[in-house]
Amino acid sequence: MSNIRLHDKSFRPFIDYEKIEEAIDQVAIKINNDFNGSKDVPVLLCVLNGSILFTAELMKRLTFNCEIVCIKLSSYVGMQSTGEVRDIIGMTGSVRGKRVIVVEDIIDSGRTIANLIKMMEANGATETRICTMLFKPGCYKLDKKIDYVGMNIPDDFIVGFGLDYDGLGRNFKDIYVLDNNMKYYILFGPPGAGKGTQAASMAERFNLCHISTGDLLRGEMAKGSELGLKAKALIEGGNLVPDEIVEGMIENKFNTVEGVSGFLLDGFPRTIAQAEALDRMLAKKGEKVSGVVSLMIPDEMIKERIRHRAAIEGRADDASDETIANRIKTYHEKTEPLVEFYKKTGAYNEIDGIGTIEEVRDRISALMEKI
Ligand code: AMP
Repeated sequence: MSNIRLHDKSFRPFIDYEKIEEAIDQVAIKINNDFNGSKDVPVLLCVLNGSILFTAELMKRLTFNCEIVCIKLSSYVGMQSTGEVRDIIGMTGSVRGKRVIVVEDIIDSGRTIANLIKMMEANGATETRICTMLFKPGCYKLDKKIDYVGMNIPDDFIVGFGLDYDGLGRNFKDIYVLDNNMKYYILFGPPGAGKGTQAASMAERFNLCHISTGDLLRGEMAKGSELGLKAKALIEGGNLVPDEIVEGMIENKFNTVEGVSGFLLDGFPRTIAQAEALDRMLAKKGEKVSGVVSLMIPDEMIKERIRHRAAIEGRADDASDETIANRIKTYHEKTEPLVEFYKKTGAYNEIDGIGTIEEVRDRISALMEKI
C-alpha cells in the first residue's frame, strides 16, 4: 500500500482492510449475541455518508431480522462563536416503537451521537444503542458508554472506508491517515513577555511563517486602511479588536502562504472564541494545533518590559500607564482562560520567560524540537 493524494493533502496507509474486516466480525458477534432470538425487528440507523460501507459490511453479518433507516446530518461552521451547528436533513423510515442501533463510521467528541440519541427519543424509538467502527477515546466527552466499538484510534485525521476529506477518499477500502508535516504553534503569554522577539528567531530556525496579529493590525493602521482605522482606537485604549477581524487575517495567511513548514502564531488566539475559531479553521484543513508555548512572566515585569519597549519602538499602546494597565487587565480577563483551554487539549507547555533573550530562546527552541 502506498500514499494517496486527495485534493492538496497526502495520506499514508493506516489500517488495512483485513483488520477492518476482523473488527467488523467482532462487532457483529457481539450484536448477534445481544439480539439473536428477540421477537422485535430492530432498526440499523445508517448515518450518511460516512457509515455507508460499515453499515453494509455489518448488516451482511447480522443473523436476526432487522431493518435499515438512513439519516443525514449536515454540519457547517456558523458565524457565531458557539461553533458547529448541526442540522437534520432527513430520515428514510420510521423508528417509532423500535429498538435502534445507530451505526457510525467514527465517533470523536460525541456531539453527533448526543444529537442522534435525542432525535431517536423524540421520534419514538424504545431504545438507542450506539455502534461505531472507529472511536477516538481521547476526544470523547459524553458520559454515555458506546455499546459496540470496532477499533480505538488516536486523534488523527483519517480517510477511506467511507470517510472523506472534502468529499474524496470514501471509496478506498483501507483507512489512511494524514501524512502531516505542517506544524501550527501558538506562542502564548502576556503582553511584554517577549513573544515578538522570540517568534522571529523561532520562525527562522524552524522555517515557519510568523503571524503576529499585532503587527498585521499596526500595518493596517500605518496604511490608514478602513480596517486600520477601526482598530486604532481599540488598540490605543488597550482593548481587543473584534474576533472576526483577526480571524479573517489568520485564515487569509493560512490559505496564501506557501513554502513553509508551518505557522507560528503570536498574539492569536487571544480569546476562547478565537481559539475555537482556530480549531475550526484547522479542522477544515484536516490539521490541529501542534503545541502551545506559553511564555510566563509576572505582572510587575510586564509593566517594566513594556516601558522599556516604548522607549525603543514608540508604540502608541505602550505609551500610557493607563493603556498598559488596561492591556494587562484584558489579558487576565479574556486571554488567560486559554491556559485551561489548552491544558484540556494536552497542547499546553509552559516556559519560564525570565532571563536573557538567549536563555529564553534556548528554552523555547528545545521545547519546539520536542513538539
Ligand atoms: P500585540 O502586538 O500582540 O501586543 O497586539 C497589539 C494590540 O493589537 C492588542 O493590544 C490588541 O488591541 C490588538 N490585537 C492583537 N492581536 C489580537 C487578537 N488576536 N485579538 C484581538 N485584538 C488583537
